[in-house]
Amino acid sequence: MKKYDYLIVGAGLYGSVFAHEAKKRGKTCLVIDKREHIGGNTYCKDIGGINVHYYGAHIFHTNDKEIWDYVNSFVEFNRFTNSPIAKYNDHLYNLPFNMNTFHKLWGVETPEEAQNIINEQIEKYGSKDPQNLEEQALSLVGKDIYETLIKEYTEKQWGKKSTELPAFIIKRLPLRYTYNNNYFNDKYQGIPIGGYNKLTEGLLEGIDVELNVNFFEQREHYAAMADKIVYTGKIDEYYDYKFGELEYRSLRFEHEHLQQDNYQGNAVVNYINKEIDFTRIIEHKHFEFGQQKTTVITKEYPLSGDRNAEPYYPVNDDHNSKLYTQYKELNEHESEVIFGGRLAEYRYYDMHQVIGSALHKIKTLFDS
Ligand code: FAD
Repeated sequence: MKKYDYLIVGAGLYGSVFAHEAKKRGKTCLVIDKREHIGGNTYCKDIGGINVHYYGAHIFHTNDKEIWDYVNSFVEFNRFTNSPIAKYNDHLYNLPFNMNTFHKLWGVETPEEAQNIINEQIEKYGSKDPQNLEEQALSLVGKDIYETLIKEYTEKQWGKKSTELPAFIIKRLPLRYTYNNNYFNDKYQGIPIGGYNKLTEGLLEGIDVELNVNFFEQREHYAAMADKIVYTGKIDEYYDYKFGELEYRSLRFEHEHLQQDNYQGNAVVNYINKEIDFTRIIEHKHFEFGQQKTTVITKEYPLSGDRNAEPYYPVNDDHNSKLYTQYKELNEHESEVIFGGRLAEYRYYDMHQVIGSALHKIKTLFDS
């Protein structure tokens, strides 16, 4: 008999929720992670008493009350509301595109005035069958919003001209005709009081965890320890990239601890101009309304992903989707391995979605 029922590769949200729920159902689990900490990309590092979102700003939002209650059962969430600001040519604009943005751009005050300008610009510059990202954006929001708040930011993010990027990258560009700077439309939103580690520590309480362990360096040893594997790493790596590599966009984070109490007065400021290499500055204390004497900021630099870069955003174009399907067909024949989470399923998941996906998997395995 093997020591554990489940070996869980990856201590991110998928692995942690799975382990917690399996334990509740009497199963034994060992969770391993190649990083030196649990939490995956939600990990927060304490710098000067501030919870620094070490792998990028994480704001929890959901419409699903069950998931909201679930996360709040491990840690209470605060009432943080994401209201990012965008800086272009020394002007600050509110996001998402709303009446505050339109007032700043054109001096308009009523939704009707804003709508008229946008519709005129769409009529003049848009196209019926957009062939690239630029044509798509012009068709959705017109010229001024595109040139002020989208073009250079997107080109920095992707390292390509908007005319060379496919239209599908931008499916929708929501326009809000109210003075409402709340980025998300979801009913529930917030940040765990005390940081995300409280959530994953709660989930993994009483469960065996080994850190600094790369599954592929001791695959046979770890696989032999459990009846089944829950794998949350990259699916192409699991199969030794036999069909080729799935593409990701990556990011480089530069954290700075500053000896001042308030750097930018907001958690998230986007930098649009292409001359500025980074795309955003995050000031972490504002996620938790921090009153510390110092502050920590993080500059986010876009990186095109290679095998050694951290894989952050899947590039779900035709080529990669086909490649993923090839890998997925292989794993459908492996009844002893469950592939879950953003890397194994090669899809962008928000936190509430990855938690929902792990809970759904648990239900289908144990509760039906
Ligand atoms: P991960 O968190 O990536 O966990 C996978 C774990 O597996 C990692 O810890 C990794 O080290 C480990 N692993 C991989 N391979 C191996 C191996 N071979 N051996 C051992 N361990 C391995 N969501 C929101 O809801 N709101 C946000 O504001 C938000 N912001 C984001 C910002 C950025 C920059 C990024 C990248 C994501 C953001 N997300 C956000 C999404 C959120 O991070 C994911 O939904 C969530 O972290 C996915 O959890 P996971 O368990 O699937 O993956």
